[in-house]
Amino acid sequence: MGIFFIFILGLIFGSFINAMIYRLHIEKSFVWSRSMCPWCKHGLIWYELIPVFSFFYQKGKCNYCHKKISWQYPIVELVVGLIFIIIYLQVVDINSLAVVTTNEFINVIGYFIIVIFLIIIFIYDLKFYLILDKISVPAMAFAIIWNLSKDFSLSNLVNLLVAGLVAGGFFLLQYVVSKGKWIGGGDIRLGFLMGFVLGWPNVIVGLMLSYFIGAFFSIFMLFLKKKKWGSKIPFGTFLTIGTFIALFWSKQLIIWYLNWLS
Ligand SMILES: [Zn+2]
Repeated sequence: MGIFFIFILGLIFGSFINAMIYRLHIEKSFVWSRSMCPWCKHGLIWYELIPVFSFFYQKGKCNYCHKKISWQYPIVELVVGLIFIIIYLQVVDINSLAVVTTNEFINVIGYFIIVIFLIIIFIYDLKFYLILDKISVPAMAFAIIWNLSKDFSLSNLVNLLVAGLVAGGFFLLQYVVSKGKWIGGGDIRLGFLMGFVLGWPNVIVGLMLSYFIGAFFSIFMLFLKKKKWGSKIPFGTFLTIGTFIALFWSKQLIIWYLNWLS
């Protein structure tokens, strides 16, 4: 029951993320405006706004102008639903008979918010090759406040700042050396965000994962001849995947890596 509710919540937030990306792109206020078809601008009513269901019910087309609706909409909704379930299962002890504790509840909400920021960055960079400061800067502030709320100490603050400086500094260095050719300014800010989210030494795990995933994807695309050497790569997309994995599994990955070495 709890998991089903979390999934539905994820679908709703997936729908919200889709709307937010569209509105950020056309620079419309995303809080109080009505949802509409991007082609004919017809306002949508409640049954056209049900995540996943509406898309399939309308056979992937707008009810008014019959233009195709992007697969991005149902896919993002479903993926966010699944990610919310993963977070819930990582944070909440479902084997315990007790209901969700206050601590677990706050933790789940915090992870949801962090991951919503990461997903917006992921999709936006994938679609438009851009990391918006409007998203990454509030995400940085939230990550610091959230991590400090769990451990309010000077050493934790120093840890987060060091992690942010290492990842952000690493990208800044590449930015300076390549005169902005390899990496964009948005990636530098995303580096800081990774540090503030993951802390030290997990940020290193996040960075390494991102590079592995990016390299794997690039080889795959070269193989499929979808990209050429020197093609633009949505680097922020890989950084967000690496951050997400490191957020939950960096300890296991470090242990696995050390075992593998020995
Ligand atoms: Zn339409």
